[in-house]
Amino acid sequence: MPGYDVAIIGLGAMGSFTAMELAGRGASVIGFDRFSPPHEKGSHGGETRAFRTIYTEHPDYVPLMKRALEHWERLAAEGSSELLTWTGVLSLGEADSSLIGGVRQSADVYGLPVQSLPADEVRRRFPALNPPGNFTGLLDTRSGLIDVAAALGCALQGARRLGAELRLDREVLGWSVEGREVLVNTREGQVRAKRLVVTAGAWSGAILRALKLPLLVRRQVLTWFRPHRPEWFQPGAAPVFVFAPGAFYGFPEIGGNGVKIAYHERGDPLPAFPVQVPPPSDADLGPLARDIARFVPGLLDPARPPQDQMLAAKTCLYTLTPDGHFIIDRHPQYEQVLFGAGFSGHGFKFAPVMGEVLADLALEGKTEQPVDFLRLEGRF
Ligand SMILES: Cc1cc2nc3c(=O)[nH]c(=O)nc-3n(C[C@H](O)[C@H](O)[C@H](O)COP(=O)(O)OP(=O)(O)OC[C@H]3O[C@@H](n4cnc5c(N)ncnc54)[C@H](O)[C@@H]3O)c2cc1C
Repeated sequence: MPGYDVAIIGLGAMGSFTAMELAGRGASVIGFDRFSPPHEKGSHGGETRAFRTIYTEHPDYVPLMKRALEHWERLAAEGSSELLTWTGVLSLGEADSSLIGGVRQSADVYGLPVQSLPADEVRRRFPALNPPGNFTGLLDTRSGLIDVAAALGCALQGARRLGAELRLDREVLGWSVEGREVLVNTREGQVRAKRLVVTAGAWSGAILRALKLPLLVRRQVLTWFRPHRPEWFQPGAAPVFVFAPGAFYGFPEIGGNGVKIAYHERGDPLPAFPVQVPPPSDADLGPLARDIARFVPGLLDPARPPQDQMLAAKTCLYTLTPDGHFIIDRHPQYEQVLFGAGFSGHGFKFAPVMGEVLADLALEGKTEQPVDFLRLEGRF
């Protein structure tokens, strides 16, 4: 049986960039995905992802975010498609809300530029938005959105061009260790590799069952609305915006596909290994319609019911850790097995640097990137 240097389980956000990075370093790589990324059954579906330079979750993400940005800019310069659009990210809330406090603190600590906008200034600059008078707006101008299909296309095509063998629509049923190698099992047969990287998103807990990773999979609902005044929602005219209550957020309209609206802080927990994800329902849409009317009244035509102006509603999966931080580590029993999991609803922007880190760990056994705070050992 021919052997590979590295096998990868899961070619979504993290696995696709890991495959490209490994292949670029000359490793022989085989990657599997049970679906055909980009797809809408895991954690990367839904067209766009926010890229923020101001990071409130943990200060140690800032150097990783800067490294990720170097990768995004290099990849965009090398390729033909736009990966990142600089729209700015506008955070809105009461001055003592954790969102506004966190953005201010992170900007102060890292000397990052942020514009402070009172509510009436927000309404003047962005007529679609309607923050209450006691809300403050903080605009992070070095932020924007990432095109998911372009990003995954860039990574998967890049990996293939560099020699990686990618098997899509191939589910991995399990893996085992034999001597210093790893055997990966699919319905089509077995593959042997010196190293295994597991980047299986919401299914990571199932693939690494013996580790009992503390992962909570949550169903998130994404909606797209046809804007009543499209000119208010184009990139350049509107930022990505997030309102503190529920972390209710929206993205500018891309390609005439509507304005994406969702909550970051709401979502229903699912069984650990999701098989069936319930589709969006009226119970999901009611609160969204109320918050649109309250915070983004310019989005909809007031003369028509909101549901008639909705273009699409989809689900997507968060894989949350108890502390909201990613887990990047080596398997405690098998040093040839590495994994990246629990990206907790904020991992996409880091995908290229996570690819670099996992490739470092697989090929060199160590990395210069500051990821010690993301290790599993001793954390939960
Ligand atoms: C609604 C929503 C909004 C988000 N917004 C942002 C944002 O604005 N900014 C940001 O940075 N991040 C955001 N995120 C988070 C980000 O998208 C995720 O952190 C990221 O996609 C996680 O990548 P992943 O590779 O772990 O999972 P995925 O991208 O889901 O990839 C995992 C892959 O593993 C495959 N797989 C699983 N099991 C198997 C198996 N047995 N065999 C073969 N293949 C398998 C799956 O098919 C899948 O393709 C958001 C996530 C959601 C759901």
